[in-house]
Amino acid sequence: MLFKNIAVLDDRFKLRENGYVGVKDGVIGYIGDQMPEEAFGEEYDGRGKLLMSGFVNAHAHTPMTLLRGYGENLNLSDWLNTRIFPFEEKLTGHDIYYAMLLGIAESLRSGIVSTTDMYFYGEEMARAVLESGVKNNLSLGLTCFGDEDLYTLKNYKEGKLLFENCHNTGDGRLKIDMCIHAEYTSGEKVVRQMAEHCKSLGANMHIHLSETKEEHEGCKLRHGGKTPAEYFYSLGIFDSKTTAAHCVWLEGEDFDILKEKGVTVASCPKSNLKLASGVCNAPKLLEKGINVALGTDGAASNNSLNMLEEMKFFALIHKEKWGDPRVVTPRQALYAATRAGAVSQGRADTAALKTGMKADLIALDISGAHMKPAHSLLNNLIYSASGSDVRLTMVDGKVLYRDGEYQTIDIEKVIFEVEKSKDRILSELGQALAEKA
Ligand SMILES: [Zn+2]
Repeated sequence: MLFKNIAVLDDRFKLRENGYVGVKDGVIGYIGDQMPEEAFGEEYDGRGKLLMSGFVNAHAHTPMTLLRGYGENLNLSDWLNTRIFPFEEKLTGHDIYYAMLLGIAESLRSGIVSTTDMYFYGEEMARAVLESGVKNNLSLGLTCFGDEDLYTLKNYKEGKLLFENCHNTGDGRLKIDMCIHAEYTSGEKVVRQMAEHCKSLGANMHIHLSETKEEHEGCKLRHGGKTPAEYFYSLGIFDSKTTAAHCVWLEGEDFDILKEKGVTVASCPKSNLKLASGVCNAPKLLEKGINVALGTDGAASNNSLNMLEEMKFFALIHKEKWGDPRVVTPRQALYAATRAGAVSQGRADTAALKTGMKADLIALDISGAHMKPAHSLLNNLIYSASGSDVRLTMVDGKVLYRDGEYQTIDIEKVIFEVEKSKDRILSELGQALAEKA
């Protein structure tokens, strides 16, 4: 495809008006001010549009779209124990497959090309990723509340099989990561064994870290004063390339540990606000040179998978929190929503608009009243744009979403199936409650 007469935001966030970008064999082959001599197939008229890198969602539980709006206005522990966990117990592979597709559709609609996911029913999630054409670093959330041996756990066996069968499939679009859900949901033995297992596979690691004060302080009581970061560090988790979600309550040496081990912080500002978990100290992380990416978390605590919205929250929240409107610049927010996520996923070839990179691109309509005038398009992109401005989302050079239409997802069927799953689960939960009473 050849994008022509389009504004182009390149890998250094430099703007080129009326540019030309040629995509061939899934890769960006040409960027320039003139019509290229080489043929790139279909021509896309880019007048009134901006072409830029697609977004990378660095922390999500995509199938939680099924729980959107189900548990509201509760703190994390009530939210998990009274709403989320009972609902999740009723989920089947069929439910997960369609809820995953719904989340993928929503993600594509607001320009997400790749997601780092943690959930269960990996096989069904993998199928949805491969069929829909998106990129995903998928892991199975490992929880175990006793002193079990990792190698006896169902989660371990499923994860191992998933890694063997699916890692780097779909031309590398799908990667399988390893996972410890969190310090408070796993025993020490399992964490140590998972650290070794992940290292032996050369896989990436995905964890929740210091999301709430309760978790952070509880960990110190449980583990001789060690913070969650110190605890995971001591057990070797960070010896693998790690994405740590939230990191709201980091303190003291925690920052140095993350820096030393090259851990990516996947900050989830909207989810943290909604559950009143706190605000991650992104200015300090950025100042220390720690890779800070952005995640939406699940749709149950957000309630959308929309990186434009997430960027805006990320750019705004720190200004109030730290009393300084200069912190977290539009460039930093944009980098966090794109390239930082790709770095955390171990994808060197995506999330930058540059020749030779994979064509994981989005075209945004910048002709709307809310985008005018454009004293700075970069500022408008962070503070004024909305997810629905995305008109086209391309992954590996293939258009997956364009002007409200999905090329690989039967959205009506997906919504029908998700509604059906929701009704069935609610009725089962109602019956369970009635049986208890
Ligand atoms: Zn999460």
